Amino acid sequence: MDGTSQTFARLGITAETLRAYDKRIPRYTSYPTAPVWTDAFRGPEWAAHLEATASTGRPLSLYAHIPFCQKRCLFCACNVIATRREGIADAYLDDVEREVALAARHARGVGHAIQLHLGGGTPNYLTGPEMDRLIAIVERHFDFAPDAERSIEVDPRTATREDIFRLRQVNRFDRISFGVQDFSDDTQEAIGREQSGQLAFDSVLAARDAGFASINIDLIYGLPRQTPKSWKRTLDDVCALQPDRLALYNFAWLPSKVPNQRGIEESELPEPATKLDMFIEAHDRLTSHGWRFLGMDHYAREQDSLTRAFEAGTMRRNFMGYTTLRGTDLLGFGVSAIGDFGGAFAQNTKKLTEYAASLDEGVLPVERGMKLSEDDLVRRDCIESLMCQGRLDLAKPWLAALVQEARAELEDLERQGLLTLSPAALDVTLKGRVFLRNIAVVFDASMRAMKDKHLFSRAV
Ligand code: SF4
Repeated sequence: MDGTSQTFARLGITAETLRAYDKRIPRYTSYPTAPVWTDAFRGPEWAAHLEATASTGRPLSLYAHIPFCQKRCLFCACNVIATRREGIADAYLDDVEREVALAARHARGVGHAIQLHLGGGTPNYLTGPEMDRLIAIVERHFDFAPDAERSIEVDPRTATREDIFRLRQVNRFDRISFGVQDFSDDTQEAIGREQSGQLAFDSVLAARDAGFASINIDLIYGLPRQTPKSWKRTLDDVCALQPDRLALYNFAWLPSKVPNQRGIEESELPEPATKLDMFIEAHDRLTSHGWRFLGMDHYAREQDSLTRAFEAGTMRRNFMGYTTLRGTDLLGFGVSAIGDFGGAFAQNTKKLTEYAASLDEGVLPVERGMKLSEDDLVRRDCIESLMCQGRLDLAKPWLAALVQEARAELEDLERQGLLTLSPAALDVTLKGRVFLRNIAVVFDASMRAMKDKHLFSRAV
């Protein structure tokens, strides 16, 4: 795929096209998706599953969730705990330590950890010594491969240049992701963040000076007080900064479901048509300035490891988004963390009190999950292949059978230019990569049975 040929104009995509595919569809960081999981699968079931499947020695990814933020941003729909209470993080780490030890006991025999990711909330809510303690906890209970990748999400407002250097040099993180959203001070004020464009700029430069191998920034279009002019300036700043990876998200304003979004003035939101224009502007600027569009909302520079994995057909997708690490099991720690291990999913409780109470009883704090059936596993393989490689190899009989079953719908998508079908393969076109979710949903058997599709974000 030639990176310079990816602009929407070259792909024949207009605002009208985007509107036509803008439906509520899962993001497919898992299949089946989280709303399908059940509370019949909890801590004891997860523990038994780990014991039955851990000894294969498959490589392992580890995730730790730090739910705290100093203040809640008005746009944020994440499950966070806004607090400045002294000692709360240290007390939380006591519980995380108990969970890690318990999970490691149940998962005896697992392979080396090849990835550690810290997400939130705000992982850099932890002080330096607290961060050291968290790393020591996971290293004490799991064997790390010498070249294990370590990544962290960072809030630029609470990380000094020294903090960023410390994360690289002391804690040996090699990938860092900043929640920037927009470089305009006016928009930052409207979403309740005291984050100047200069601060975000300085954070990225500090990460580069500190020697991070890959720097990601998150951007959001459709935020209050964003205008085509201010958005262009944000994109100018992005082009000047040259982050290795970019995630470009669509802001969903749902004040009835996300109470803190009620602090956003509806009159300050860009019109839907303006919002689509901003998406087109961003996509076209990025793809004509050296970033490769990898699918969904992700972009990476040519030399980044994710682009290389994409080109080699080895890019994968999990709860942390796209990743270069193939075929790993995932164990998640902390409130709301998700595990994906040996053909089952599990999600921890979101409440701190329930999390601690479960660990008091020596039970893993899982509140819901599921074990995948044979059919789920086949569909999962199919959807992941589409999302990551943009291709289904029809020499695999299980994929050929699924394509046969959905042939009428797929032929319709073929006529719309989203994919091509041949006896050997289903190939997603360049245009189709923008609408991967619309193609993947054809193979989603669980979605058909689901009544409340408002649980999912819009595809565009
Ligand atoms: S956007 Fe980030 S810093 Fe703001 S509330 Fe959400 S998780 Fe916390």
